[in-house]
This record gives sequence, C-alpha cells and structure tokens, in this order.
Amino acid sequence: MGSNVKTSNSLFRTCIGCKQKKLMAEMIRFNFNNGKLGVGTGLRGAWLCRESTACIQLAVKGKAFDRAFRSKLSVSLAAINELINSK
Ligand SMILES: [Zn+2]
Repeated sequence: MGSNVKTSNSLFRTCIGCKQKKLMAEMIRFNFNNGKLGVGTGLRGAWLCRESTACIQLAVKGKAFDRAFRSKLSVSLAAINELINSK
C-alpha cells in the first residue's frame, strides 16, 4: 500500500569518493567519452562532491573512476584537479 512514495531522488547523486548522496547542484559530473575523462555532460557520468579534495583523493585511491566507467583509467589527483579547474 505504501509503495507510491515519491521522493526527489532524481536530484541526488552518489559521490564516487565519499559514497554519500548529495544534491546534484553540490556536485561535479565527470564523463567518459572515447576513452577520455572529462567534466560535464556526457554519455556516462560519475559524480564527486564539488570542491572536495578529500573526495577526489578517495576516488583516485579507490579506483572509483575505473569502476564507474568500467575502464582502466590511471587518473591522478593532479589530472582530476586540472579537469575541474579547466571547467
Ligand atoms: Zn564526496
């Protein structure tokens, strides 16, 4: 009977670093197109908390990008920071 609970779940995404659910507006989206990691909209997406170096570190250390995009990505903290800053 109580199965029609409508939450605004679509506004939330799970951070691949800290694994916490946050509002999309508080996050940054990564994409993966043609073997290249980028920032912004794209076919596949992975989300990280905005302006959180800790989350970037967690994601890089835990190979969260590899898992999110099912590819072998040897991303570094510096590379991610560069992507974010170039946005
Ligand atoms: Zn996070």
